[in-house]
Amino acid sequence: MRRFFQEVPEELWRDYNWQVKNRIKTRQTIERYIKLLPEEIQGIESTKGIYPLAITPYYFSLIDPDDPQDPIRLQCIPRAIEMDPKIQSMGEPDPFKEEGSIVGLTHRYPDRVLMNVTTFCAVYCRHCMRKRIFSQGERSRTIEELKNMIDYIKKHEEVRDVLISGGEPLSLSYKKLDYILSELRKIKHVEIVRFGTRLPVLAPQRFFDDKLLDLLEKYSPIWINTHFNHPKEITPESQEAIERLLRRGIPVNNQTVLLKGVNDDPQTMLELFRGLLRIKVKPQYLFHCDPVKGAIHFRTSIDKGIEIMEYLRGRISGMGIPTYAVDLPGGRGKVPITPQYVLEREGDRFVFRSPFGGTVEYEVKDI
Ligand SMILES: *Cc1c(COP(=O)(O)O)cnc(C)c1O
Repeated sequence: MRRFFQEVPEELWRDYNWQVKNRIKTRQTIERYIKLLPEEIQGIESTKGIYPLAITPYYFSLIDPDDPQDPIRLQCIPRAIEMDPKIQSMGEPDPFKEEGSIVGLTHRYPDRVLMNVTTFCAVYCRHCMRKRIFSQGERSRTIEELKNMIDYIKKHEEVRDVLISGGEPLSLSYKKLDYILSELRKIKHVEIVRFGTRLPVLAPQRFFDDKLLDLLEKYSPIWINTHFNHPKEITPESQEAIERLLRRGIPVNNQTVLLKGVNDDPQTMLELFRGLLRIKVKPQYLFHCDPVKGAIHFRTSIDKGIEIMEYLRGRISGMGIPTYAVDLPGGRGKVPITPQYVLEREGDRFVFRSPFGGTVEYEVKDI
């Protein structure tokens, strides 16, 4: 499985801190392992100081060096198109108006808040919806900033669900994580605490650490939303990370982003969602790629998303079919999109399109 770094002892390879310390950040390091394309060299040079580059040895080792369109490669190595003036002129740094009056906190839905606790990530995904925070350097919120967010949640009794995100929230120290979770657990109206983390995909070694798992288990119920985009990301290591979380009673749901060239293909998505079910991860959302400045080149049409959803229906357990959703600009909320199965209706008489082909007339009365 490990294509590069075979000389690294298993003990170090399985250590999250080693993975973070040895992240690949320069063109020279990448070139030791793979031959870069001219547009990648240009991408690495032109994004310098604007959108950082960092790849864990683990994630990097999933790249097939012989495939220039490798889906892992496209997600983590910049290309010239990222800084192309046309691409840069489209989209917005913060299309969802996440930045509000309290640093790090977004309160869009009445019952849910989003806490953004750090700008650090193990890997900087080229399609990140929060690319704007990359350039701020790697900094986690101070205890003071965290306290301000928590005080807000305390005062707002309508908040039942706290989504902790970043950056990479599970990169925080035990001390800060313990502080956040213990404070949230003191608030009676907070019922759900979730982490939005891509570490099961980018550095699953984080979950080989019993001390972290003990901490998460202690503050149960905790949920995890992760971000697998391609079947190649399902590896023995990511599977082990998921297994360890599930054993501690932490459910793991997945949010995929539809990305041009990476996974905008029905068969790839089917394989991804089948693979996720196999490791007991529920595909929750398939997000349409957001209009984020610097990531527009990953966008597909909405028709592509609908085509994929059509293909899935009838080919995989219902459990494996996520909700395809578009986040409306201006922070107006996420809305589901489904293929049209009702072709006609007249009163209680419906004409449905069957996922197996053909139509079915069906009258349904409320008696
Ligand atoms: C997506 C999002 C949530 C969570 O939405 P769910 O549909 O419950 O996953 C909460 N707050 C903000 C600002 C969001 O963007």
